[in-house]
Amino acid sequence: MWRRATASGLSPGGPVMSQLRAAAAARGVRRSGGRAVPAAGQSRKGASPRRGAPAPAPALALAYHLFSDPAEAEALRGSLLAWYDKCKRDLPWRTLATTEPDADRRAYAVWVSEIMLQQTQVATVIDYYNRWMQKWPTLQALAQASLEEVNELWAGLGYYSRGKRLQEAARKVVSELAGRMPRTAEDLQKLLPGVGRYTAGAIASISYGQATGVVDGNVIRVLCRLRCIGADSSSPAVIDRLWDMANALVDRSRPGDFNQALMELGATVCVPKAPLCGECPVKQHCRARRRVDKELAFASQKLFGKPTPVPDVEDCCVGGCPLCPPATEPWNSSLGVTNFPRKAAKKQPRVARTAVGVLERRGCHGAPEYLIVQRPSSGLLAGLWEFPSVPLAQGLQEEEQREVLADHLRAWTGQPVVPGALRLIGEVIHIFSHIHQTYVVYSLPLDGDVSLDPTLSPSRWVTEEMFHTSAVSTAMKKVLKACEKQRGEESSPGKGSKRKRGAKLQGASSTRPGTQLSLRAFLRVPTST
Ligand code: SF4
Repeated sequence: MWRRATASGLSPGGPVMSQLRAAAAARGVRRSGGRAVPAAGQSRKGASPRRGAPAPAPALALAYHLFSDPAEAEALRGSLLAWYDKCKRDLPWRTLATTEPDADRRAYAVWVSEIMLQQTQVATVIDYYNRWMQKWPTLQALAQASLEEVNELWAGLGYYSRGKRLQEAARKVVSELAGRMPRTAEDLQKLLPGVGRYTAGAIASISYGQATGVVDGNVIRVLCRLRCIGADSSSPAVIDRLWDMANALVDRSRPGDFNQALMELGATVCVPKAPLCGECPVKQHCRARRRVDKELAFASQKLFGKPTPVPDVEDCCVGGCPLCPPATEPWNSSLGVTNFPRKAAKKQPRVARTAVGVLERRGCHGAPEYLIVQRPSSGLLAGLWEFPSVPLAQGLQEEEQREVLADHLRAWTGQPVVPGALRLIGEVIHIFSHIHQTYVVYSLPLDGDVSLDPTLSPSRWVTEEMFHTSAVSTAMKKVLKACEKQRGEESSPGKGSKRKRGAKLQGASSTRPGTQLSLRAFLRVPTST
């Protein structure tokens, strides 16, 4: 009943409240001015579950976690929007969303920002966003770009499939929807690949003014604190409730601003670890804050041996409430408002090891050049460029790792590679969202001027500058940095032994100056003479 009512855009003050009132009446509880109070003849003490009263009906328990009072919801909207108007950050996508007269371009501008902001900090996104919009100001321009160009611009932003899917969706809008963006959250989600419920709601509310809510990490945190929701905030049941709440709460006349305000509050005030409750524009509506005050009063009265205060009847202090923290995780006074939200223990990332071979040659004017190869077009880091790499089984000894990499280079090039020629640089760790990745880095300096055999896998030689502007991942940039650091240490006077660069592979053919040899020649196993 509750979900159906809110999904239809009705305020929870309608049918839902009737249900709550009925449940309350059945239990002898009446409402006064939006507050639940015991019915005549029933004492507040008697209504307290801590005093052994029967648990309230589930609907009543839920009321504590909702914005059941329309006047309070309205006051919260007003306070939040007033704060947003005064304090919002000046961000390029916000400027476009308010100044761009063309609805399709406006929606495109919001869409790009929302995709980039997924899992990524605002400060990191700004530069990427500006460069993207400058390069592809319209859907049509993006649809004509190559995946290579998209990956190059996205390099360093992480979660690379986002850029690829954005471009695929832009192509779909141009080719199948005549360049017209879908005009509702429902259609955006249904028709555009990579556009989920949150992104669809954000585009529709900010670009078109559709009165639909959004739920992202910031909104989850704010709503869970405002309404003391302590059940696992990543569970589908809680997420569903939060969507209902966001849809009911959104301001009908300024939905885009309201959604951005809620997210802005979570990003700048109601932050995960040390929320600035004193500066919060909606603190008077915050049940987590009220709970902290009550717990403090409770603790101090207990300390001075005073009678234990009777919990407010509005508290949801009943067992079995689906939105309260589980009984196994009681209130932790040291956490204060950050008792909310709570999440189930995070799944540990998978541990992976990969051997990386940094093949280096001397290019024009003696500047180093590196060999990079392209990853497959699907899967992790799809289509990006990297140093030749191969996954390692756990527990291998260093010599075994070296052999695995030599084998890989051998299979990749079709030519033998001597393991002893690979020089261990060290380990580089990179954390992907779900993988704890260790790269075991080896270098393989090559003598002479080398040209690649065009029949090999997609590969190319790049200078350091080209490497950094190519579509390479942050992890690979770390690998190159480790190699350069090692080189710097070796070439600094007094720091370690100065190593001769360009050690020739065992058995590699001698080179005459100015002669171009294929890579095969450099990786050839020694021939007996
Ligand atoms: Fe968040 Fe504190 Fe504001 Fe509550 S009062 S919404 S916990 S910042």
